[in-house]
Amino acid sequence: MPLYDYRCTECGNQFEARHGFNDAAPPCPVCGAQGVERLILTAPAEMRGVLAEAGSGGNATKEELRDKWAEETPKLRKKLVDKLGEDTVSRYAPSLNMKYNDQ
Ligand SMILES: [Zn+2]
Repeated sequence: MPLYDYRCTECGNQFEARHGFNDAAPPCPVCGAQGVERLILTAPAEMRGVLAEAGSGGNATKEELRDKWAEETPKLRKKLVDKLGEDTVSRYAPSLNMKYNDQ
């Protein structure tokens, strides 16, 4: 079974869990919260490549990265949806639905 990376939205703990593709996300092992988000580290290799492309800012400033994100993300998302399907993209890369944030 595939190994997934999660981050707890309650306490920020990051952990790995091995389970089937269609199984629900496990609760946080530290605080027990159900509110965990899957990280994109374990996205399919193909998707990871595209996401890496999006992050290839080199020495770009935060502003440049944000602009690049805003410009590239819709294009990348469409490319991924065409290739992998809406469901897979929403499942593995929810961050593509969001605005860039530089935390
Ligand atoms: Zn937690």
